[in-house]
Amino acid sequence: MFESLGNKLQDILDRVGKERQLTEAQVKAAMREIRMALLEADVNFGVAKDFVARVGEQAVGQQVEGSLTAGQTVVKVVHDELIQTLGGKTAQPELRAEGNVWFMVGLQGAGKTTSTGKLASLYKSKGRRVLLVAADTQRPAARDQLEVLARQVGVPILKVADGESPAETRRRVDEHLKTDFRDLVIVDTAGRLQIDEALMDQLADLQAAMQPTESLLVVDAMTGQEALNVAQTFDRRVKVTGLVITKMDGDARGGAALSARSVTGKPIYFAGTSEKISGLEPFYPDRVAGRILGMGDVLGLIERAQQADLKAMEVKKPGDFDLEDLLTQLRQIRKMGPLGDLLKLIPGMSRALPEGFNVDEAQIQRVDAMISSMTVKERRNPKIIDGRRRKRIAEGSGHTVQDINRLLKMHEQMKDMMKMLGRMQGGKPGAKMPR
Ligand code: GDP
Repeated sequence: MFESLGNKLQDILDRVGKERQLTEAQVKAAMREIRMALLEADVNFGVAKDFVARVGEQAVGQQVEGSLTAGQTVVKVVHDELIQTLGGKTAQPELRAEGNVWFMVGLQGAGKTTSTGKLASLYKSKGRRVLLVAADTQRPAARDQLEVLARQVGVPILKVADGESPAETRRRVDEHLKTDFRDLVIVDTAGRLQIDEALMDQLADLQAAMQPTESLLVVDAMTGQEALNVAQTFDRRVKVTGLVITKMDGDARGGAALSARSVTGKPIYFAGTSEKISGLEPFYPDRVAGRILGMGDVLGLIERAQQADLKAMEVKKPGDFDLEDLLTQLRQIRKMGPLGDLLKLIPGMSRALPEGFNVDEAQIQRVDAMISSMTVKERRNPKIIDGRRRKRIAEGSGHTVQDINRLLKMHEQMKDMMKMLGRMQGGKPGAKMPR
């Protein structure tokens, strides 16, 4: 759908070539592309402009590092700055021994109620005693929705009645805590479809009564540009302490995260990654930076490849990467560290792999079995494997046709990656990874 920033930069940077220092004109050309790509990734205009200005300053006169080319050096500068802008390291909300109250705010549909349930589940599993407070009196079904989630997670819930005053809600929560000790109270609040003053007043009143230790703004990653206004307004009125970016499993490239984080300066604690109760992860700035760049963590991949003796990378020509090579590579790649982590570094791979797909020893054996059930001719040219053969290979190796399809798809993705890596090294056949 998007042409990745990585690819575009590559085009410009191919022209930069092998020089050891970046000139101003080269950097300027690259920065234009970066700004366009950020806008395409739905980063707010002002945020993109500031970002490009910062990166440009750093990149001019930047010495080309070690084995990297000038092109890769610019990508690295952009990548590093993206990570910094997204918060640098992964941050977690403050958690005291007891008396934690988290206030969840955001527009209707952002995923507030869902995220409240997810947090209850996550922190219960960490040994916290969670109480949920359903205070979204705006959306008709929100309180019932949270009740279902509470039951699913196995935590108590207190439902706010229509027209109940903030003081009364506070009193009821205190009353509950007297008989049932809870060290983390999470309050789901009312949202509206758009920012509106009456809503902000209502939230501010409830916040004053509840005195939360964290006020988490839930932002839908798909809202793109709008995320900036939303974040700014909520922060002004309810003093946000952290962000939750939902629907990162969708097509959104992460521009909303960059905008919301830039304008509030508040840490992004979590990313919502599915509709399920388990679909909440700590927010990893480096992964999202890679996603905005549209190229996965290619630098990380290069660095790890440099460290490992990766003969399989020395493919004759990247386009020739066949299933034999895949098998060799899978076996050798294990030396580079946990394979699951490594595969996530490959662009598109995290989405190509089905949910719960865990690459481990057993997985490698499965792949091994599947490839071994193919003829050498098929391994060299997987395109000839038709439906009938897929069925036979599946039977022969004790797998399903879906497994075979998945493997062939994974191979295609890896082939694309090999081509891209090949290009990063100047596309010479037989080129080795930079050392
Ligand atoms: P609220 O109005 O802010 O409370 O929104 P909800 O929690 O009801 O969420 C709105 C919709 O977004 C629901 O259909 C959720 O299932 C969905 N949703 C929430 N978070 C995520 C997420 O991280 N990924 C995906 N795919 N869907 C989500």
